[in-house]
Amino acid sequence: SAERRPLVAGNWKMNGLKASTAEIGAIAAGYNAALAGKIDLLLCPPATVLAQAATLADGRILVGGQDCHAKASGAHTGDISAEMLADAGAKAVIVGHSERRADHHESDADVRAKAEAAWRAGLVAVICVGESEAQRRAGEHGAVVAAQVRGSVPDGATSSNTVVAYEPIWAIGTGLVPTPADVAEVHGIVRSVLAERFGAAAGGMRILYGGSVKPENAKALLGAADVDGALVGGASLKAADFLAIARTY
Ligand code: PEP
Repeated sequence: SAERRPLVAGNWKMNGLKASTAEIGAIAAGYNAALAGKIDLLLCPPATVLAQAATLADGRILVGGQDCHAKASGAHTGDISAEMLADAGAKAVIVGHSERRADHHESDADVRAKAEAAWRAGLVAVICVGESEAQRRAGEHGAVVAAQVRGSVPDGATSSNTVVAYEPIWAIGTGLVPTPADVAEVHGIVRSVLAERFGAAAGGMRILYGGSVKPENAKALLGAADVDGALVGGASLKAADFLAIARTY
């Protein structure tokens, strides 16, 4: 849609040492005028290299965190607040990734609180939703994703503070991808749930597809209706692959 500028976001997960941040420099260097005229790029490395990544990104591309605590500071050993991410140079943070929902038992309410924390710190919240393989097989994907959007997106979401990422769990890191029609179906559901809550503003909110996006399949997936970009895991680790996905726009 003309009113939604596409966003291609990378999620390095628990991968990346100082040396790997050279890839971020390469992505920033490859984000030329042609790409900048069309899309935004965001790369979310581990928090340990976020400040270094922000320096290398040089304001050309955005960098972000992969999770944040709901509180700004306090007695929460090992956790990282949205304010800390912002201080390190983040402009966005992924919240509610399915790996966090599974590994750290994060509920929709937890994710909603984290999204609010992101806004408090001035970050864009990239809120992830997506059904399991069993839910897809049972035909429950639409209802599951609608409920996650209702529960995880806080009141106050706008097209500038919120991005929703639809990531079917069975497609993440598996090489399996839904058909473009399947993607369009769920994105349409997400858009209509957002419209129930936020009215016309929902038309400006970006909804990303994530799950085994590669240079080879990006054009078909990103061309589906209501898809405003990608959240890329594995293929974001190499600048050449990430840029190849971006260049499908
Ligand atoms: C992700 O982690 O958000 C993701 C989509 O991973 P992958 O691209 O590796 O499937």
